[in-house]
Amino acid sequence: MNNLVAALYIASFALFIYGLMGLTGPKTAVRGNWIAAIGMGVAVVATLIEVRETAATNWVLIAAGLAIGVILGVPPARRTKMTAMPQLVALFNGVGGGTVALIAWAEFLETDGFSAFQHGEEPTVHIVVGSLFAAIVGSVSFWGSLVAFAKLQELLNKEVEKAFVARARTFQVLNMLLVLSAIAASVWIGLHATPGEGTATWWIVAVLIAAGLLGLFVVLPIGGADMPVVISLLNALTGLSAAAAGLALNNTAMIVAGMIVGASGTILTNLMATAMNRSIPAIVFGSFGGADASAAGAAADGGGGTVKSTSAADAAIQMAYASQVIVVPGYGLAVAQAQHAVKDMAAILESKGVEVKYAIHPVAGRMPGHMNVLLAEADVDYDSMKEMDDINGEFSRTDVTLVIGANDVTNPAARNDPSSPIHGMPILDVDESRSVIVLKRSMSSGYAGIDNPLFTADRTSMLFGDAKKSVHSVIEELKAL
Ligand code: NDP
Repeated sequence: MNNLVAALYIASFALFIYGLMGLTGPKTAVRGNWIAAIGMGVAVVATLIEVRETAATNWVLIAAGLAIGVILGVPPARRTKMTAMPQLVALFNGVGGGTVALIAWAEFLETDGFSAFQHGEEPTVHIVVGSLFAAIVGSVSFWGSLVAFAKLQELLNKEVEKAFVARARTFQVLNMLLVLSAIAASVWIGLHATPGEGTATWWIVAVLIAAGLLGLFVVLPIGGADMPVVISLLNALTGLSAAAAGLALNNTAMIVAGMIVGASGTILTNLMATAMNRSIPAIVFGSFGGADASAAGAAADGGGGTVKSTSAADAAIQMAYASQVIVVPGYGLAVAQAQHAVKDMAAILESKGVEVKYAIHPVAGRMPGHMNVLLAEADVDYDSMKEMDDINGEFSRTDVTLVIGANDVTNPAARNDPSSPIHGMPILDVDESRSVIVLKRSMSSGYAGIDNPLFTADRTSMLFGDAKKSVHSVIEELKAL
């Protein structure tokens, strides 16, 4: 039977890796997701076969656990709108970290962390160290992900959020004390834990509380523009904690799946941090101009400048007589679900000889790859989607740039204003275009909560309204030309 379990595990790992390869492109992503999910199903079956002869196996509890997971997981995943996916992903990620922390806690309650010893193996240092690592990192990931969820779902009051961001430095000291407390309690456990005696029962609670507070206090003061990197980092941490728990429990599936999530999450975190011109320590131990957050709030309240509004008819004429139009999609495009309308508008422009390109900022929207996924859903040609570095040089020779529901990723203050909270964040150089038309509903700020001088620039005009309705109006006007 051991051979069957080993074979099933190998099959599930192959499916994980094959599924992950599918996630590298929008066309194969859905299939990749299904393949990886089947891999996880195979791993669960293998684990159930492995534990079925253990005296402690309680099938009623296992069935109840599976039922609760399906009931709590499937309906929200099916019902959640695409715009709320990032929150759901943050929540699911947190649940993974929380599960690892609970497993580690249960191990210490029963066996002082020496679970593998209970199953007939020699107790070794790596088992206890693995459990402690899983407890700390899993707890950080759970509580940190809950804060990320609350921020993305806009459950946190904006003023409270700003107050946390403004006190980022104070939290650095507190966080350092929490790290030291978690390590000190872990060292005590490492020195005194004795297989099967439960001597670590309360110390592991201290570890979990210190790590949980650390998760809360690291993510709470992180400013808007850094959140994408933090979400990816939390994802990597959950994977690493699962791998550590797998090491302690001697479960190959947890080690491999955890390492795949940890490694891919770490690569994504690095890519996003590089794209945002940030280092990971600077994000975790500081915030984008945290101390200046109140100044930013003031700017958002009254940016000044003259706003010029335009009509769908004028926008249509400007674009129809352009040689190149660059579309800049942002979070508002996802909210309005305007991707199909945008594709139709581009087709009309192209039939009139206008070249249409799409400029994709790495953190546009609310999750990595958000805009690529939306545009691919509308069958926008992949070759016309240009990464920020590839398109930035083209804005200065572009007749019209159409900004659809994007805000922070076009904010020239990130480049020009050292006092801006997002100063240093690379942006799309939209302001260099010969003319800019911005589609949004009002003058309100984006995720970072700051004013955008692009909207009052000389070459910019605003087409106010829901993005999908505005694009449809432009389409009608283009047809009438
Ligand atoms: P922003 O959040 O900066 O701005 C979106 C704009 O869309 C708003 O200003 C809003 O203005 C407008 N909008 C909303 N609904 C509609 C609608 N129905 N029709 C037209 N406009 C609409 O988006 P960006 O994409 O420019 O920037 C992303 C931000 O999110 C960055 O700050 C990034 O750091 C952050 N972030 C990104 C994550 C990622 O992984 N990609 C994860 C977490 C955060 P109005 O209300 O006036 O219409």
